[in-house]
Amino acid sequence: MLTLEKMYSMGHEEVVFVQDKNSGLKAIIGIHDTTLGPALGGTRLWPYEKEEDALIDVLRLSRGMTYKNSISGLHLGGGKAVIIADPKEKSEALFRSFGRFVESLNGRYITAEDVNTTVQDIEYIHRETRFVTGVAKENGGSGNPSPYTALGVFRGLEASVTKAFGSRSLKDKTVAIQGVGSVGFELAKLLTEAGANIIFTDVNEKNIERMKKNLSNAQFVSPQDIFGVTCDVYSPCALGASINDETIPLLKAKVVCGAANNQLKEDRHGQILKDKGILYAPDYLVNAGGVMNVSIEFDGWSDSKSRRMVDTIYDKTLEVFQIADEQNIPVNRAADVMAENRIQAIKQIKTNYLGKK
Ligand code: NAD
Repeated sequence: MLTLEKMYSMGHEEVVFVQDKNSGLKAIIGIHDTTLGPALGGTRLWPYEKEEDALIDVLRLSRGMTYKNSISGLHLGGGKAVIIADPKEKSEALFRSFGRFVESLNGRYITAEDVNTTVQDIEYIHRETRFVTGVAKENGGSGNPSPYTALGVFRGLEASVTKAFGSRSLKDKTVAIQGVGSVGFELAKLLTEAGANIIFTDVNEKNIERMKKNLSNAQFVSPQDIFGVTCDVYSPCALGASINDETIPLLKAKVVCGAANNQLKEDRHGQILKDKGILYAPDYLVNAGGVMNVSIEFDGWSDSKSRRMVDTIYDKTLEVFQIADEQNIPVNRAADVMAENRIQAIKQIKTNYLGKK
């Protein structure tokens, strides 16, 4: 098991281990940094083989949310939760039990959907706590965030092709999508409307069939072949770490831009992409549409308000490219610098004494 030292080294404020024998709940909530506001990030349900794997995941993911929320200009800190369970064991009691623990943190942590948690699961959590977003539209929430995440990735893609090819248009550009689940499928629809050609892969038969049925022009390739296809953009929309020592040499794309979290296996892969002249759109910036969407839920959500916010990803992505060019650093590092600078600046103004209330 990892020690507190690991938690400190990654800069976490608080890590909460929770369990409830009655519902079978075993979960970890990671609160990384609350300088900018309450820590917001989704709850991932995963059958981790070892508790240590779950802990590493929650530490990594919650820190990632600090950066994502900061660069997106949100007044939110970074947090994340993991429930250690098989998706087949999901139940109302499990999520309601989890919701009670979230409530006990008094709003320091706000949860939402993530891998293997749906709007229905969020509804169960919502029975027990106010500190939850991604609630069903009929109950005053913003519903499924995936279409907004896809829209944000699309804006990031537009910024990337502007930089790489000199025009915002995706017409006749070929985009290779790895993973056509909730976000990948929505992205494929937007790309089709924009006149792009699509090559895709997946390991889930149902999702492959959905693509074939709805987007008949999209071309399917096997999961191993997606990296080396001839295309303009490689769009990772499945799991993390798909940009690594094995896959980079195969890439023919000029741009990497997708929805998956933690696309670079290690930070150094950002430098390798730069050296190869492949433009990388930082994952946590271009996939922030979902969190932007849920962030306005407490102030009264509307589709148009959310879309306006998500559209800002286009300009923000271009800004990060510019910083990377000016400082001659990899784009992933430029994004980190931008996110860290905002947190530092806000931390400093909070040191002023404001007098007695
Ligand atoms: P999803 O589970 O609906 O879709 C993922 C798809 O990838 C599935 O169809 C799955 O079969 C496929 N896949 C898994 N392993 C694969 C492999 N080796 N090769 C090819 N395909 C594979 O998830 P999602 O909600 O669409 O999210 C996709 C990614 O985007 C995840 O990394 C997620 O963390 C990230 N993300 C999602 C959101 C959101 O709003 N849903 C927001 C931010 C980031």
